[in-house]
Amino acid sequence: MHLKILIKSGDENSLAEWKHLFQERLPSMAVHWWDDHSVAPEDVDFVLVWEPDPGKLATFPNLKIVFSSGAGADSIISDPAYPEHVPLVRLFTQGSAQQVSEYVALAALMSLKNMPLAIANSQKRHWNTYNASRTASDTTVGIMGLGNLGAEAATLLHNIGFTVTGWSRTEKNLKNITSFSGPDTLDKFLATADILVSLLPQTPETRHIISSKTLALLPQGACVVNAGRGSHVHIPDLIQALDSDQLSCAVLDVFESEPLTADSPLWTHPKVIVTPHIGANPPRWQRVEYVSSQIKRYLQQEPLLNVFDHQLGY
Ligand code: NAP
Repeated sequence: MHLKILIKSGDENSLAEWKHLFQERLPSMAVHWWDDHSVAPEDVDFVLVWEPDPGKLATFPNLKIVFSSGAGADSIISDPAYPEHVPLVRLFTQGSAQQVSEYVALAALMSLKNMPLAIANSQKRHWNTYNASRTASDTTVGIMGLGNLGAEAATLLHNIGFTVTGWSRTEKNLKNITSFSGPDTLDKFLATADILVSLLPQTPETRHIISSKTLALLPQGACVVNAGRGSHVHIPDLIQALDSDQLSCAVLDVFESEPLTADSPLWTHPKVIVTPHIGANPPRWQRVEYVSSQIKRYLQQEPLLNVFDHQLGY
């Protein structure tokens, strides 16, 4: 059987590498770039995409699966013409779970040593020995979102020596992690979190979930780490909490508008570390491995994994 996949992920110069990687795993797959006009729309079986041109997915009448090139699907379902009958599979690779977990662990360890202050002093060539004696063993990290990435991050943080709590929609049974679930437990969960990490998806319910109301419930001097989506944090409230010393620091990898604009106060805030959405960027071979394994499942009529749920919004 001849199958076709269109790709829009990264730069078009990467097409040769995508072809080579698919050739090794699915030799019958023809691989084309997203806007290759030689491909008839009715011949497109699969797409692997991040930020599709709005309306274009609906023009492929025989589309079988849409693969998101990232863990989130927000950049795809924001297309008002998204063909909802076509399953949308979100990316999950062990590599991305490890990368995000390492980002979160790094941020948590930076918080223990108050690294934003060290960096601000260093830029001023200012030698100021300050107290950074806190350790993982007397610190609780609260993770919002205990899914593919949150669960992995929780385990790494526990192994480092942190106490770890998590908050999700449904209850989890993860070894050594205290699970809170549902909106009724949010306040109790927040009270545990010396370091609050967001690894939630972008949905209407999670928009601005980190706001003055929730920040006030954290222990005084807490640190916020956002590796989920920019929409989770109400930035003016975050800055106010930093300025009033309710928060000691924030480590932010994701922003409502990316790239973060040059006039954002976050760039120069002395208690904030900004990183440019580097939490996870799995190599192409891992993406192709994942997509190929799911296409093989589809061809063998096995259920697909990690399918976007339009009711839940993630
Ligand atoms: P996932 O497996 O779908 O996990 C999402 C978690 O959030 C689940 O535990 C879910 O609860 C929970 N959740 C969703 N809505 C909730 C709500 N209203 N209240 C409480 N909990 C809620 O997603 P993932 O693969 O771990 O990815 C998480 C997010 O990480 C992605 O959406 C993306 O935004 C972000 N991400 C960032 C980077 C980066 O480079 N910084 C890279 C990859 C991904 P249940 O388990 O009960 O369903």
